[in-house]
Amino acid sequence: MEYEVVIGLEVHAELSTKTKIYCGCSTEFGGDPNTHCCPVCTGMPGALPVLNEKVVEYAVRAGLATNCEIARESKQDRKNYYYPDTPRAYQISQYDLPLCAHGHVEIAVGNTEKEVGITRIHIEDDAGKLVHDGYTGGTLVDFNRAGVPLIEIVSEPDMRSAEEAVAYVEKLKGILEYIGVSDCKMQEGSLRADVNLSLRPVGSEKFGTRTETKNLNSFRAIARAIEFEIARQKEILDAGGIVYQETRRWDDETGEGYATRNKEEAHDYRYFPEPDLMPIRLSEEYIQDIKNSLPELPESRKNRYVNEIGLPEYDADIITSSKYLSDFFEAATDICKNAKAVSNWIMTDIIRIAKEKGIEYNELPFSAENLSRLIMLIDKGIISSAIAKKVFNEMAESGENPEIIVKEKGLIQISDEGAIKEVVDKIIAANPQSVADYKAGKDRALGFLVGQCMKEMKGKGNPQILNKLILEYLNN
Ligand code: ADP
Ligand code: MG
Ligand code: ZN
Repeated sequence: MEYEVVIGLEVHAELSTKTKIYCGCSTEFGGDPNTHCCPVCTGMPGALPVLNEKVVEYAVRAGLATNCEIARESKQDRKNYYYPDTPRAYQISQYDLPLCAHGHVEIAVGNTEKEVGITRIHIEDDAGKLVHDGYTGGTLVDFNRAGVPLIEIVSEPDMRSAEEAVAYVEKLKGILEYIGVSDCKMQEGSLRADVNLSLRPVGSEKFGTRTETKNLNSFRAIARAIEFEIARQKEILDAGGIVYQETRRWDDETGEGYATRNKEEAHDYRYFPEPDLMPIRLSEEYIQDIKNSLPELPESRKNRYVNEIGLPEYDADIITSSKYLSDFFEAATDICKNAKAVSNWIMTDIIRIAKEKGIEYNELPFSAENLSRLIMLIDKGIISSAIAKKVFNEMAESGENPEIIVKEKGLIQISDEGAIKEVVDKIIAANPQSVADYKAGKDRALGFLVGQCMKEMKGKGNPQILNKLILEYLNN
């Protein structure tokens, strides 16, 4: 039987406010355990929460940037469950009146674009962290993260493959970074996704039963967990079995998923309005002010790169998927005025270097200014593109100004016709066979002669002049 994959994601993003959602404790990552805590975020009896206004502002920014409608009136609700990392025995979330709803984002996989619907975005508080203590065999709890503000972005079940799910999370990550509401560091858990997945026979309208794999914190883990779960459900369905609605955990080390508990329903949480917090009422003016303060978003930048600069759609998509890369592209282009060259360096060597080193783009050691210097050295004919690759690799290690690298290593291109002619004469004298081959119509011999001359000049010969001089000789 052929199945269609149906995926909906719940993405949690930690907001980069300075203080927690209901108290003045720091949200900074790390720190000694239980040092960013107070009676409010450790759930002491009688401690009262006060909503951090920045949280509302950031959530509204996220909602506007993902085409959501913003609720003029919403409220917060208690979601009751006991777990040792949740000291109050309830989470404060939003149940039936989320801040934002009915949005969408555009994703592109290969050459196809599609819209993924956003059901809702609500605010809630993060839980603490349980740490298994190998020494005593016990479990310790660190409440530094308890009360860090989160937005939960719930998608419609609109995705049909792992590629689409990854493209969607990449798109969200880009948007949240652009609007500055989350640092989206997946390895620190500030952006994580729960994957809801079901299969249905191709052609069927009715959704199958879904499972929810929780807390995936890398693109690779999202893709692998999805492939695993597709194969698992397919095997069950093919054998005539039943997929149970359950919560699952993904182990990235072993590459396997495990069922952790039966899925709870909303009524299990006994949601009720949080009595210690006021409803959230937003004025038109407040929402308009936030709208006016939004920066240009990736979609609009992408269209600008395609329509005004003429970049291929694919390249524009990749460059704008990261705010850092896109800012880098614009800064470098501003200086060297050669957008195509900047884009080529990004699409080839910059992406390659970041992959090889396993770093984020913002950890690259060189500036946009230095990349544009390199491009200008080529454009002015001071170095050849072959030499430029060497200079680039050097710059990617040290971050050094390419003009200095070129000077120090003596890499300046030789354009002096007299000097090049000497080399051409020497190589031609040494390779009579190649000259004869060329005259007999074997064009490949020309490439060989140019290559030999270049080698003799350690890559520094000006290729245009070199070609011209050799052809002059051969065609005489
Ligand atoms: P809960 O809060 O109980 O996890 P939600 O109604 O918030 O449930 O939905 C969670 C996610 O599951 C949403 O992203 C939704 O798109 C997705 N989803 C719902 N039904 C299915 C299904 N049959 N297959 C795949 N995803 C689904
Ligand atoms: Mg859920
Ligand atoms: Zn606190």
